[in-house]
Amino acid sequence: MIFSKKAEQIEASITLAITAKAKEMKKNGIDIIGFGAGEPDFNTPENIQSAAIEAMKEGLTKYTPASGIIELKEAIVEKFKKENNLNYKPSQIIISTGAKQCLANAFMAILNPGDEVIIPTPYWVSYPELVKLSDGVPVFAKTDEKNSYKYDVGKLEKIVNDKTKAIIINSPNNPTGSVCTREELLELADFAKRHDLVIISDEIYEKLMYEEDEHVSIASLSEDAYKRTIVINGVSKTYAMTGWRIGYAAADEKIIKLMSNIQSHATSNPNSIAQYASLEALVGDQSSIHDMIKEFKSRRDYAVERINKINYISCIEPKGAFYVFINISKIIGKTIDGEKINGSLDFCDKLLEKGKVAAVPGVGFGLENFIRISYATSMENIKNGLDRIEEFINKLR
Ligand code: PMP
Ligand code: GLU
Repeated sequence: MIFSKKAEQIEASITLAITAKAKEMKKNGIDIIGFGAGEPDFNTPENIQSAAIEAMKEGLTKYTPASGIIELKEAIVEKFKKENNLNYKPSQIIISTGAKQCLANAFMAILNPGDEVIIPTPYWVSYPELVKLSDGVPVFAKTDEKNSYKYDVGKLEKIVNDKTKAIIINSPNNPTGSVCTREELLELADFAKRHDLVIISDEIYEKLMYEEDEHVSIASLSEDAYKRTIVINGVSKTYAMTGWRIGYAAADEKIIKLMSNIQSHATSNPNSIAQYASLEALVGDQSSIHDMIKEFKSRRDYAVERINKINYISCIEPKGAFYVFINISKIIGKTIDGEKINGSLDFCDKLLEKGKVAAVPGVGFGLENFIRISYATSMENIKNGLDRIEEFINKLR
């Protein structure tokens, strides 16, 4: 049997694979500390759970409009107005099965075969694969740890060409935790305007920021940026709702129409009950977010300080999201029990096998000699996990 050439080129999501593997090992009684999962360890707040139960009882269990219920669209419009200084009509909003489906729809809606999409390296694992699935070509712009993993517009000018269709901006960033300032976003908006690019602004971690700076949506910076940006967001991270699968996007009406048409065939509406739960998430009590942010910040502070005290590894301080991207370049070439560590994949394999800690290799994010750990796990796990990493590293020769 000959399979689809396109499908054969797609890698499985390494973040999801490692998370599943660690969960499976734990289920089998192996004492693993999981730093793989990019999902809050808190349960979904109770008011949101109750809204879902109510929706079920009221019989809101039928198909909804393919692009989502109007009440939730209106709540999203309100959220954009209040929090991001962005004015959309409900017809400019689509609700999908996770931000991931919003991204998939967006690429399908804007790309023609051969169109290039600029992606920062390190990148979230799904961007290149989603671009390829839409017959686009991912073009990587390597960012630098010394520059807090920010885009360098000078370098972007060297890779942009007449096939470039779009640029992805992900602030706060997965896997680095870097956050773009208003000035940096202004520069990027200007770059996109100069080269007439669609901006895909993935703002899924917007609430998870730990410094004074406010989150800025690039779409809010000018009329031009507003017109050319597809804003991607969702409830997964902010409201500890990863399993409910609700994301949303806002953009020009025509783009949203195309995305909705695609979705109407691919999946129909996102889960009706989860949409009603998300409505409560957006309009209900927001206090759980503050507690969660406070907790994440203290975990981050602990993890960063601790990591920088361990031999051979280091990290810069992430300003947002819930990941630390750790530089392991000094470890490459060393051995453990006589076995050589040739790269981040080897490191993570051996750390899992011998150190009983799950982490994601940098190579999954397009950057060797790094690993990503998630601190969306309890402080106790973080302390134990980092103890184990230290012990493992001290055994290297
Ligand atoms: N964008 C980024 C950067 C992410 O880390 C994730 C995590 N899953 C997503 C989008 C997708 O989120 P979801 O589909 O759960 O809404
Ligand atoms: N975004 C999370 C992560 O990067 C969840 C897994 C995924 O969707 O890839 O770990």
